[in-house]
Amino acid sequence: MLVFTPDALIRRFLCADMEVLAEICELTGVIDSRLSPSEMDARIGIMEDLISILQPQLTNCTLCPRRCEVNRYQEPAGECGLGVDIRVASVACHKGEEPPISGEEGAINVFFSGCNLHCLHCQNWPISQKRVGSTVTPEELSARILKKWRRGMHSLGWVTPTPQIVGALEAYLLCLRNGFDLPLIHNNGGYENPEVVDHLSHVVDVWLPDAKTADDTQAAKIQGAPNYVIINLQAIAAMVNQVEEGNARAVIVRHMVMPAHLDDSRQVLNLLWDKFGSSIYLSLMGQYFPAFHTVNHGSLGRKLSEEEYNQVIEEARKIGFKQGWVQHYDTETGVLLDCL
Ligand code: SF4
Repeated sequence: MLVFTPDALIRRFLCADMEVLAEICELTGVIDSRLSPSEMDARIGIMEDLISILQPQLTNCTLCPRRCEVNRYQEPAGECGLGVDIRVASVACHKGEEPPISGEEGAINVFFSGCNLHCLHCQNWPISQKRVGSTVTPEELSARILKKWRRGMHSLGWVTPTPQIVGALEAYLLCLRNGFDLPLIHNNGGYENPEVVDHLSHVVDVWLPDAKTADDTQAAKIQGAPNYVIINLQAIAAMVNQVEEGNARAVIVRHMVMPAHLDDSRQVLNLLWDKFGSSIYLSLMGQYFPAFHTVNHGSLGRKLSEEEYNQVIEEARKIGFKQGWVQHYDTETGVLLDCL
């Protein structure tokens, strides 16, 4: 999950084809459209049922592919280290997401504490790995979201909601009952249980998963995630299926290029194109910097070079990707620039 992108970050289109650009711009309008009163009523009904389906899973947790089968009511003994209370690091306005998500006004991002991945380089590690944050009730969380909504925002982004999906749904349900009509973005590490993704059909408007690697050996070492590749593809397939059936609006897949791992990036892009083609939007990220356990790491202990990033951008275009966004990184100033 990439959550600390600076608000000044500007993403450029992956392709300069005017027809594709028009389609991507249209996506902004699609995502921007508010839920109609009938959609809100339907979603409230779906969510009431969904909470009653998912809540019992907390006693024998299989909410994510780790399938820890622990009782989250007794102790936070699972891989994510989370119990049943909602734990949140912040609820903040964020303008640095992909343009259709942030819009002009920004997204209301709810940064959930904890994560079901253990990335060595997590740029957000105090929140994801140390679970920095505070416990809130669904009522308190919904009140914080509604306060920001009343100021006028573009979307609601859940950042790493996977282990806390039940509490997130409870808070969102309260928001909907208070007239909240912004589209919902589910920003995750791509290590999702496809059955839970299926349950969220008609509830999530835009899926924003990562595709971190196409190499399970690397996934085990860097993300601490067994069988990441197949699970990632199955989860994205479930998300794409929702869009194709008209039950979600878009899938935007993020891939962060890492230094000295360009072959892996090429494999990720080829896999995504082979499986999903133009059914997904690609967000190719170049903002890697060493953090957490990679500060003095051999290959990951440095920033990504501009040359490395450009090679992967070109590869994406060669493969056929047109719909999506790229970033650019200024090695002198350390600032992400609008460069294409
Ligand atoms: S949500 Fe947490 S406890 Fe549940 S399966 Fe995933 S890592 Fe394990």
